[in-house]
Amino acid sequence: MTKAKLKWQQLILSLGCLLLFIACNNSYPTTNPGVQVLKVATDPTFIPFEIQTASGNLEGFDIDLMNVLAQPAAGIAKIPGFTVQFESLPFDGMISALQAKRVDAAISGITITAERLKTIAFSRPYFKAGLAIAVREDNQNIKDFNSLKGKKIAVQIGSTGADFAKTIPNAKISTFNSGPEFFQDLLNGNVDAVVSDAFATLYSIKNGKLKGIRVVADLLTEEYYGIATPKDSPHLDAINKAIATLLSNGTYKQIYRKWFNAEPPQLPDSWR
Ligand code: GLN
Repeated sequence: MTKAKLKWQQLILSLGCLLLFIACNNSYPTTNPGVQVLKVATDPTFIPFEIQTASGNLEGFDIDLMNVLAQPAAGIAKIPGFTVQFESLPFDGMISALQAKRVDAAISGITITAERLKTIAFSRPYFKAGLAIAVREDNQNIKDFNSLKGKKIAVQIGSTGADFAKTIPNAKISTFNSGPEFFQDLLNGNVDAVVSDAFATLYSIKNGKLKGIRVVADLLTEEYYGIATPKDSPHLDAINKAIATLLSNGTYKQIYRKWFNAEPPQLPDSWR
């Protein structure tokens, strides 16, 4: 072998090693070690709380709230460079993801319930909500809980609406993964009514995203949304303090007005 050939071989070999080194290094997350990441699950099918835009970005009431909660002024972020990283998960899988600590928190219009509190923890209430009946615009027969008896009802899997529907005598319940699907089923005439979160439905009707559907005026329940975390989360205390800060410094009001064009109702300090 000539000297020149050997040099070439050595050069190719070292280039190969270099490429291998870069490739291996890249297979690890490239997060800056100084940045603390709070992994937050959300299901971006719940308008206007979490929405995925055509370009793939997340926006919505919950997204705005979570992002400002993490800013140093609000208090979760105790160290500079703290950042929220959203992860899209189906609503039905959120509680198990929290239990398994695959995420640090979840914000997704999640109602605080006694049943859920058995397996996960919640922040103080950050939104006053409630379930309502939605029907096709021309349906005048369904007006309250009693008129739902024996009817075909669509709900979202794992939601408080699904739990509520189980209490309606002789109702035939169909379950769906997300809002857009059960409203389509209602419009197609496959079911008589939907039981779901009133605010989300009203928002979509008002903004022309849902046509041919109306919400029955009276709410079926009074509910509060909370930010969910694993049971022994090290972040829960900071999240609660940050919510209190946003409520008292006017930031919560601003976000509420932006999305609902209304004044927010009073929120309790704790659930029940
Ligand atoms: N608030 C309802 C629940 O917690 C539904 C929330 C949602 O669909 N994202 O079950």
